[in-house]
Amino acid sequence: MTDDKCLFCRIIKGEIPSDKVYEDEHIFVFKDINPKAPVHFLIVPKQHIDSSNEFKQLKKDQLARLLTVIPELAEKHGLADSGYRTIINCGSDAGQEVQHLHVHLLGGKKFTFFA
Ligand code: 5GP
Ligand code: ZN
Repeated sequence: MTDDKCLFCRIIKGEIPSDKVYEDEHIFVFKDINPKAPVHFLIVPKQHIDSSNEFKQLKKDQLARLLTVIPELAEKHGLADSGYRTIINCGSDAGQEVQHLHVHLLGGKKFTFFA
């Protein structure tokens, strides 16, 4: 997948509109278009990697930022006390639809499923 054809790269570049929640030098966060919970954000690295199979291609500070932003977003959006779920789908068995690594951050309801 080249970056100019990747949906999430195009969202990061602003070529496709999104409901942006947060951005810094390493990551871009926006609302999922088909939310599965009252809060459903997608946290994506600005550097394109296809999936978590390629984590090693990210620099350590890029990788760290994907995680350290989670409690910041949780605090800001009222999820820190009630709780939240994060999901990274990888490949077809997990149902990964978009081949640009993303962390789902979901909250605002009780989750009764695991998978
Ligand atoms: P995956 O199944 O790959 O882990 O998750 C992909 C997510 O991207 C899905 O939850 C889907 O609703 C979301 N998504 C797909 N296309 C778009 C889009 O164009 N804009 C936004 N904001 N989300 C999208
Ligand atoms: Zn991409």
